[in-house]
Amino acid sequence: MRILIVEDEEDIARSIAAAVERHGYIADIAHDGEEAHFLGFTEDYDAVILDLGLPRRDGLSVLRDWRQEARLFPVLVLTARDSWQDKVEGIDAGADDYLAKPFEMPELLARLRAIIRRHRGLGSARLSFGPLEVDTRHAQALLSGQPIPLTPLEFRLLNYLAHKQGEPAARSELLEHIYGTEAERDLNALDALITRLRRKIGSGIIRNRRGHGYYLASVDDEAPASTPPATRATRKGTHEA
Ligand code: CA
Repeated sequence: MRILIVEDEEDIARSIAAAVERHGYIADIAHDGEEAHFLGFTEDYDAVILDLGLPRRDGLSVLRDWRQEARLFPVLVLTARDSWQDKVEGIDAGADDYLAKPFEMPELLARLRAIIRRHRGLGSARLSFGPLEVDTRHAQALLSGQPIPLTPLEFRLLNYLAHKQGEPAARSELLEHIYGTEAERDLNALDALITRLRRKIGSGIIRNRRGHGYYLASVDDEAPASTPPATRATRKGTHEA
């Protein structure tokens, strides 16, 4: 999940970025309205956190432009004052939710998760695929109820696929949504990452549809592998080291 944080106050921007990165997202920061406007049109974000009071161009006009051009990513607006006029204007301009400053980080994270869920039509903070459960609240994955030790990158991949709800994601799409910088986006590294993750959770859950990409399957939803994927994975992967 790739999040755009639009905030001109450097320390607030950095602390939001650090918090979202701890929770399984990657973050880009825009420090003014022009930069935000540009990034919103050129990058494919899973959500945007948008401060309204910005240099060079105000947040509301940036948001209106995005919406007019059908940039439909969910947007959480940050308002400096807790005035009802700001909220009304923000929502009318196309915001999905708002948060008044100063705010508590756990509330920002909860609202961020909620707008992403609603945008994708998901009802719960826990996403299940057979024995696999992705707990977005705690940025954790469980297999048959047991937490799986995952690197941040492994979790980001799993979390992204979980939010797609069985719809395949092409490798290029995965690169864009789970790696921080363009320099890290490497198809070979992605293939190696998927191999490692399959060892941990089983190849029956992370599947590939030729020409379409990777997706998560509930184990029983289509021709399951002959060996239960969970058991096979544990034996091969985690016990070697
Ligand atoms: Ca501001």
